[in-house]
Amino acid sequence: MKTRITEQLGIRYPILQGGMQWVGKAELASAVSNAGGLGILTALTQATPDDLAAEIERTRRMTDAPFGVNLTILPTINPPPYGDYLDAIIKSGVKVVETAGNVPADYMDLMKERGIIIVHKCTSVRHALSAQRRGVDIVSIDGFECAGHPGEDDIPGLVLIPLAVRALDIPVIASGGIADGSGMAAALALGAEGVNMGTRFLATREAPVHENVKQALVDATERDTRLMFRTMRNTSRVLRNAISDKVVETERRPGGCAFEDIRHLVAGARGRAALESGFIEDGVVSAGLVVGLIDDVPSCAELIERMVLECRAHLERASRLAAA
Ligand code: NAD
Repeated sequence: MKTRITEQLGIRYPILQGGMQWVGKAELASAVSNAGGLGILTALTQATPDDLAAEIERTRRMTDAPFGVNLTILPTINPPPYGDYLDAIIKSGVKVVETAGNVPADYMDLMKERGIIIVHKCTSVRHALSAQRRGVDIVSIDGFECAGHPGEDDIPGLVLIPLAVRALDIPVIASGGIADGSGMAAALALGAEGVNMGTRFLATREAPVHENVKQALVDATERDTRLMFRTMRNTSRVLRNAISDKVVETERRPGGCAFEDIRHLVAGARGRAALESGFIEDGVVSAGLVVGLIDDVPSCAELIERMVLECRAHLERASRLAAA
């Protein structure tokens, strides 16, 4: 499968595993890259920039294929030293960086000088256009279906993807709502040149999380996510559980609530503990609407090969319809 994305990133299939906090570690990123997609480490999953440099080296020992690093710049409880993480990424020689949230403007020139391909993930056409103006190479457009932060416009992929393709000159990756070959075929038909998946890769054998988390994704239906932080304009789509129910209820009480009132419930450290222990009612687990489409826990290679076969079959079926 050849698109501008596969050419630019040097990968066999136009499938990326997007940055996932606490999940984007060497085991998963290398498995995706070895299977022909692009695996992505999540920088802030590592406690320090030095730990990130070590994780990049560990990934290199697990794959010869290209992989990337995600750096997300969004509200956090303890703002990390973003510049030091970026320095570690640039020094490591990694050739693909996925940015999300704010574009790290001060580092754009340096990354470009070093030949780094910048994939910027964003949730609106206006942010995509501004990222293009700032010099990013690829936009990953994240529809309302996505896990984590979908922005505040609530535009699903069926509308957002073609709008982004129409507006941008650089290639577009469709993100959010894709978990199988039919979604991939749809995204390509809408003009995207690749797909990005997070939640689907969370339910794979190599994802470094407890088996209970993967089973919870298999069990969940498309109605089992909740939108937290709506009242704070930092919306986040997560799995429905006791914690997300409590957060939404607290936000909806008369007079609303301040972040401090829910901070103990939503802290990333608590979410990480839930992912590791398998006590999934104890912390926030990011998940997209595609939980409704997930009904098994394959290896990354099985998943990617299956998706590509399904995608080709769907595209062939559609082109037969067009020919009739
Ligand atoms: P954290 O422990 O700092 O915060 C937990 C959650 O609370 C995050 O969703 C964060 O955005 C939100 N938050 C923090 N301070 C806030 C405030 N003052 N007002 C409103 N919301 C606030 O975060 P973490 O789990 O350690 O994650 C580190 C970074 O990765 C954060 O920037 C987080 O947003 C980001 N992240 C992104 C995605 C995604 O969809 N791209 C998914 C998970 C985490």
